[in-house]
Amino acid sequence: MFATDTIAAISTPPGKGGVAIIRISGEAAFEIAERCFAPRSGKPLSAYPARHAVYGCILSENRPIDDGLAVRFPAPASYTGENMVEICCHGGILLTQKVLEETFAQGAVQAAPGEFTRRAFVNGKLSLSRAEAVGRLLEAQTEAQMKLAAPDATDALEGEVGAIYGLLLSLLSSLFADIDYPEEDLGELSVEEILSRLREAQTRLDALLATYRTGHAIAEGIPCVICGRPNVGKSSLYNLLCGEDRAIVTSEAGTTRDVLEKTVACGQVTLLLCDTAGLRDAESAAEKIGVERSRARIKEAELIFAVFDASAPLTEEDRALLEELAARRDVCRVGILNKTDLPAVLAPADIAPACDEVLSLSALTGDKQPLCELVEKLFLSERITPGHRAILSGARQAAAVRRAAECVQSAQAAFAAGFAHDVAASDIERALSALGEISGREVSEQIVADIFSHFCVGK
Ligand code: GDP
Repeated sequence: MFATDTIAAISTPPGKGGVAIIRISGEAAFEIAERCFAPRSGKPLSAYPARHAVYGCILSENRPIDDGLAVRFPAPASYTGENMVEICCHGGILLTQKVLEETFAQGAVQAAPGEFTRRAFVNGKLSLSRAEAVGRLLEAQTEAQMKLAAPDATDALEGEVGAIYGLLLSLLSSLFADIDYPEEDLGELSVEEILSRLREAQTRLDALLATYRTGHAIAEGIPCVICGRPNVGKSSLYNLLCGEDRAIVTSEAGTTRDVLEKTVACGQVTLLLCDTAGLRDAESAAEKIGVERSRARIKEAELIFAVFDASAPLTEEDRALLEELAARRDVCRVGILNKTDLPAVLAPADIAPACDEVLSLSALTGDKQPLCELVEKLFLSERITPGHRAILSGARQAAAVRRAAECVQSAQAAFAAGFAHDVAASDIERALSALGEISGREVSEQIVADIFSHFCVGK
């Protein structure tokens, strides 16, 4: 897990830009930078104080190719905890590549995706949950996702996990004292006290686990499909949610041929939204593919918006969809009575038995607020506000808390059944180890590699 190579990468996105940053990290970072960068003063870069921006020439094969800035960050006060240098040059595609190649010529190797952050984790500069939050921050597409990936959200989570960890650890040490010195009265805890502390840990773990519903809906997003027969207004609803005319809206049946997918904010909930082809018997080959794909998407969905035209009686196709919906108790089904700007023919009661919720709206003239409020009510147990409490926002974290909760439960059962203290102690040890996975205190190299492989190069 401990890297010795000195790595380099372009840390800014590829393309033309005002400035670009090339990062170098590792034992040889200063020597490499010294050979790629010549301060204007003629003094070596090392003659300048740490963390000062130094103006000078950027060299390639000993010749100046650009002017820019270089900053040295001596270990351990750097992002990675190693010696680091950041070279800022102009943001040209070929230029940045040349600067990077020069660092390679001087002994650096290409950084793998997320390797700077991975080294920061290995060197104790940031916890695994913070590193994961950095990854989510880079990927954030909605305001709520950004807030949940912000440092204060990780602090809240680590604070709560740390408090439960501390509670269990103090319990474990008093149990060990009792196991090691059973004859002595060390003023250790009574069985009632132990049970009460375990119950407290259990309550806090359960409460934390319950927040994953909110975290999942915001950070990971809810796969959602819009379905309904042709012309009921699916594309119009999709556009209302996306806030743009992305889907082609026409009054000719069967024009939404393929599956459009977009990440959209529905209030604070993130929807991974699909506008599917109308589920009718497709005539053309393109339509057939679209219909097949939509069926697959409906299977994976966690939320279905089933759209009906409130200005017309139910058709055979509508009734078939209602039948399908009635059988899908595993997903959240929201029936939408669209076109309420026209005289109403359908009433909510006509579709309510097959749906969890029914909402009347006009995709053409209405606003999406009532739908957003409904979706928030269905998927959020709380809203993200400044200073909100700890929220689990990833499946990995939730699985670790779930395991810890199971171990604490089995420790309680061991006590209640009167087993020797060491049986419960081993349960508590396993709970601690599960909680340790969240910060990365105890985590396998496989998991670490998997997390950082999703980062971009240069981060
Ligand atoms: P899709 O085939 O289900 O995707 O339906 P579209 O979104 O393409 O809409 C079909 C037709 O219904 C278009 O002419 C839309 O302008 C119209 N439409 C959609 N929503 C509404 C609505 O709320 N009110 C009215 N009056 N027309 C609508």
